[in-house]
Parts: sequence; C-alpha cells; structure tokens
Amino acid sequence: MDTTNDITRVFLSAGRIPGLISLAGGLPEPSTFPASEIATIARDVIEAHPGEVLGYGPIEGLPELRDKLAARFGSAALNLTRANVLVTSGGMQGLDLIGKVLLEEGGLIAGQFPTYLGALDAWRPRSPTVRKMILEAPDFEPLSALDGAQFAYTVPNFSNPTGRMVDVGMRQALADAADRSGTWLIEDDPYGTLHYDGAPLPRMIELSARSRPGEPYQGPVVYMGTLSKEIAPGLRIGWVIAAPEMIEALTMAKQGSDMCTSGVTQRIALAALEAGLIERIQPAVLDIYRRRRDALCAAMAEHLGDWFDWDIPVGGMFVWAVAKDPAMDTDLLLPHAMAAGVCVVPSSVFDASGLDRRALRINFSFNEPDTLHEGVRRLAKAITTMQGS
Ligand code: PMP
Repeated sequence: MDTTNDITRVFLSAGRIPGLISLAGGLPEPSTFPASEIATIARDVIEAHPGEVLGYGPIEGLPELRDKLAARFGSAALNLTRANVLVTSGGMQGLDLIGKVLLEEGGLIAGQFPTYLGALDAWRPRSPTVRKMILEAPDFEPLSALDGAQFAYTVPNFSNPTGRMVDVGMRQALADAADRSGTWLIEDDPYGTLHYDGAPLPRMIELSARSRPGEPYQGPVVYMGTLSKEIAPGLRIGWVIAAPEMIEALTMAKQGSDMCTSGVTQRIALAALEAGLIERIQPAVLDIYRRRRDALCAAMAEHLGDWFDWDIPVGGMFVWAVAKDPAMDTDLLLPHAMAAGVCVVPSSVFDASGLDRRALRINFSFNEPDTLHEGVRRLAKAITTMQGS
C-alpha cells in the first residue's frame, strides 16, 4: 500500500463529508471568481472568433496570448518573445510535460523540501530519486545540490506547503548555480501575486545571467505560472516561460498530451489580460485572503501554541505548523482530527520519502474566519484526544 496516496485520498475527499471543516485543500474562494465578467467575455470571444476558438489551435498556444504573456513577464533585463512562451492547460500540465521531457526512469530531481504534492504526483511514474534541497539550512550549497540532477524544482513565492519566501540571495545563488552547471531550474510561481504584506521579490528568471539584450531569453530557468489563483482554476490556463529550445521540446510533449489548450479559454484569458481584469479584482481578493490569514493565525495562537510553531506567511494560501515535540506524528493525528470534524494535511505527503511526520499544512483561503476558528478549535481537541489515548 502506498501510504502517501492513501492519505491524499482522505484529504481530497474531505470537502465532501457533511459537517467536516476542511483546512486541507488549496482552493481559491469561489466568490472571488469574476463570473459575470467571464460570461460576457466568453460570449464576445465566441461570437467574434467562432471558427478559431471552437477549432483546434496551435500546440504552443494562441500567438496573441503568447505575445501578451511575453510582455507581461518580460522587462528591460529579461527579453522575452513569443518563442519563450508555451500556453499550458493549467500549471499542472507544465509540471507533467517537464517530467516527460527532462526526467529519465529513476532520474535525480533536486527538489525544494518540503515540496508540492502535485509535482511529486506528476513525476512519480518515472520513479525519480529526489534530493532534498532545504534552502533555509545554513550549510545549503546550491552548486552541489544541483550536481547530477536532471532538473531542480522550486516554488520561491509562498511555497506550497510552507507559505515561505525564498530570499533574494538564495534566488540569485540558485540562478547562478543553474547557469554554471547547465541544470534546468524550475521556478513554479502560482501564488506570486497573492502577496499580502511587503514588496514582491525578483523572479529567478530575471536574475538569471544569460539574458542578452535583443535576443530571446536563453537561460536555464523555466518559469511557470497559472491563472488558477489570479482569476479561476476552471479556465485551466497556465504557461511556461523558458529558452526557445525548452519551449520546442515541451511543445512536442504537449502534442502527445492534449494537442492544444482550449481556444475558448485562451481567448478569454487574452481578453481578461487586455482588459486589466486581474488588476481590477485583485484588491478585493487580497483583502479577503489577508483577513482569513489573520483569523487563522489568531485562532492558532489561541489554541495550538503549546504544540506547534509557525511563521505568519506574507502571501499564498497556507500556514505550515511544525510540532515543538519531534516525536509528534501528524499522520497519526489525521484520524483523530477527522473524528473531531476537521481535516488538515500531514507533512508526510510533501516528502518524497514520506518520512517527515512532524508538521501540518493548514489552508486559510477557502473558509470564512469563523469556520477557520472552529476548525482550529477542533484540531486542538483532536491533539488532546490523541495524547490521552
Ligand atoms: N504548482 C503549485 C505549487 C501549486 O500549488 C499548484 C496548484 N495547487 C499548481 C502548480 C498547479 O495549478 P493549476 O494546475 O491549477 O494551474
């Protein structure tokens, strides 16, 4: 039996159990989806381009959307053209294609630890070996971490699961190490704009050395993003921004996967970006999530402070709670939590080896403040029950 997959099934089904409070998912708040704007845009684009949006489109994506994304992420230091951009069916497809293109059977991945469960799922069929990169560790050394790896994987902004930011010095060091060693460095950034306090940090692709003026970016960083958290996950629009040779390889893999991303949602995405929809809805979205983060952290301070430590995240959707007692086993806590009517994600699922059992990922984006408070109260009750049993 694969214990990690078993636990994953438990928390993925948690949202459907009546009365259970799920702090387990990574879901956006549905009331933030700009439904009426999207409905209007959808009608307009289907009427304006019926043959194009309802037919098959180019594998790489709609040229105008690729241009728009190149303009959105390019800068004076980072020259991007359409040749640097692949439109994907959600961010998840980018991760899947990376595995298909770069990973050999049993190959080595240098992965930021703990890491995104979906990435581990996407790459598991190739039975990779994962070398843990603990970026905060004082003795972490990027060049030796990347040595021999088929690629390195990081989520530098508000990582899933920890909610932490990788600091600028480490971003630069990873970009330099990738450049020197020729190792592809995946910069997965679905949460970058969900920033509640302070200023954003530069992307590793911007810090990467091999961007030459006038030429499309040629460096080793493979930057990935998605509209899932900025507009709505149901659009299934993501992107990969990388050197043209990588985009070509991923395009071949995409051909064997889904032929093309939906023309309807690509046109919707383009129109939404052109109309500044993200900028318009963002202040209200950030306000909701900031208040929920604060409510969760206040409830945790009230109920969980004896057992766990955590940092207040400056963005994203998660708080990472690490048990003070190294003997705490959060896999064992899960059934007690479920019995008390709350679901959270134990740290073992974010560890390729399944051995890290000391922490919990707690989501704050999906529930109202009062529900978050009640969920945390139930979690504290579950810990008391477990310790008494
Ligand atoms: N990467 C990370 C780190 C994520 O957390 C997610 C979504 N939870 C994705 C990629 C994929 O997002 P999507 O397929 O919805 O665009």
